[in-house]
Amino acid sequence: MSSKVYEALFQDIDRHMDEYMGELCDFLRIPGVSTYPDGRENMEKAAEWILEKLRTLGFEGGLRQTEGWPIVMAEHTYRPGAPRLLIYGHYDVQPEMPVEEWISPPFEPTIRDGAVYARGANDDKGQVYTYLKALESYRRVYGEIPLNILFVIEGEEEIGSKSLLRLMREQPELMQADIFLMSDSSMLSK
Ligand SMILES: [Zn+2]
Repeated sequence: MSSKVYEALFQDIDRHMDEYMGELCDFLRIPGVSTYPDGRENMEKAAEWILEKLRTLGFEGGLRQTEGWPIVMAEHTYRPGAPRLLIYGHYDVQPEMPVEEWISPPFEPTIRDGAVYARGANDDKGQVYTYLKALESYRRVYGEIPLNILFVIEGEEEIGSKSLLRLMREQPELMQADIFLMSDSSMLSK
């Protein structure tokens, strides 16, 4: 994309920054920790939060139930035959213990020096959320992205991705894609 294309996009993001930040903080307040066996209510809440956001962007899909935590799978079909982009992420977070080592509460997002501090902010809720809002702004400024897009957002990354790996083995056709995008890795730079 040319810099002009980015410019209009970034302007739209800036215009909606308060709203976007507020929503991100709502997501971060959901304490969906995959290692807690009694955490179903919060895990489902986090999964449904993502699904709902995808639906408002024109995606169709649902929560795929597994032996573990549900996998959010939702697709936006732009056109048959157009390339398919698969975006991977996870909505589960690591346990917040030991809680006394946190400068601010793990599930009450706090902004310090322009950065959001909360459990999951940089692994991986922030990244997943970035894709949603980039899409939202893109659609508002330019209309549909000429790609078929499939989101696969799992809830077991922090405990070994067992259900996702099983699904990939049993139904590999579900996740066939031309382009694969993930941001669940170390950061190269700010
Ligand atoms: Zn991660």
